[in-house]
Amino acid sequence: MTNVTDSPTQADNIVVVENLSTTFSTPRGSLTAVNNVSLTIKRGMSLGIVGESGSGKTVLSRSIIGLLPPSNMNQTGSATINGNQIIGVAHKELLKLWGSEVAMIFQDPMTALTPTRRVGDQIAESLRINLKMSKKDAKAKAIDLLRQVGIPSPERRARAYPNQLSGGMRQRVMIAIAIACGPEFLVADEPTTGLDVTVQAQVLDLITELRREANLTMILVTHDLGVVATRTDNVAVMYAGRIVEQAPTRELFARVAMPYTKGLLDSTPRIDAPSHTRLSSIEGRPPDLVNPPSGCAFAPRCSFAQDRCRTEAPSLVASTLNPNHLFACHYPLNGHAAQQ
Ligand code: SF4
Repeated sequence: MTNVTDSPTQADNIVVVENLSTTFSTPRGSLTAVNNVSLTIKRGMSLGIVGESGSGKTVLSRSIIGLLPPSNMNQTGSATINGNQIIGVAHKELLKLWGSEVAMIFQDPMTALTPTRRVGDQIAESLRINLKMSKKDAKAKAIDLLRQVGIPSPERRARAYPNQLSGGMRQRVMIAIAIACGPEFLVADEPTTGLDVTVQAQVLDLITELRREANLTMILVTHDLGVVATRTDNVAVMYAGRIVEQAPTRELFARVAMPYTKGLLDSTPRIDAPSHTRLSSIEGRPPDLVNPPSGCAFAPRCSFAQDRCRTEAPSLVASTLNPNHLFACHYPLNGHAAQQ
């Protein structure tokens, strides 16, 4: 693998993405799901990637770790993890990273787990392949991991098949597999889809706790801004394949700049809101990425849009209020203005 990061500042950034685009060939034409995205994540920090369905958040996170099938896909730009280039690298090279340095928690554990194998064996397999552990040590470690992710009676549960566990327990097993080999970078893609609200919070809290204990770097992909509010250090908001707002989490929630982010926030339930508060939703639908609109892609749905928005696409710029707060909007909210 190619090491491309030698300077002290870059070495601090475990993830470096530069001008990354991912385009798919479809029967209707080219669809650019990730469009010229750049970002960095410092070691031990967490980034929430937020957006509606189809915003490009899942494709971006999978592009960064090389987890997209190469057929019908073209990628330009660069993504490195710990200095290892991911884009354009052969599958067998990426296999050396997956499991050991990089791990993923998928949306649906039922499809990610093998239904015909006991969960303990599935965890142990990862330890034997990646860490070359003996059968006996891998089995003992698998039980330890089940205990670590909060599964009661781990010796007994290790012998269970996935369909004998609840949805929350299956997701805990997926988390055990993800952390088994001590990765440095974890991607969790909508890890609580399909779970009930209480179990969702428990699973998200478990991921946060394990991440902090092990100083893991993490991307948490979600459609729900409420999920990232207390669980990530920074947030990137995506729309139509681009990052349209990015900021430290507290800063983003304190003074949103981009009308799309405001729309997402207004559609997020808040625990401090009076009961029976009605949630608004963003009217309209995301654009067709095979035929994207000219100008700002959010303009057809934006109540702040003016003529300029329909002809000139806004660039991602730093705010005069906080240089770490980036936004792509000609008419930002809350006193933000573009640094010259
Ligand atoms: S650039 Fe214009 S259309 Fe786009 S979000 Fe800002 S105000 Fe709305």
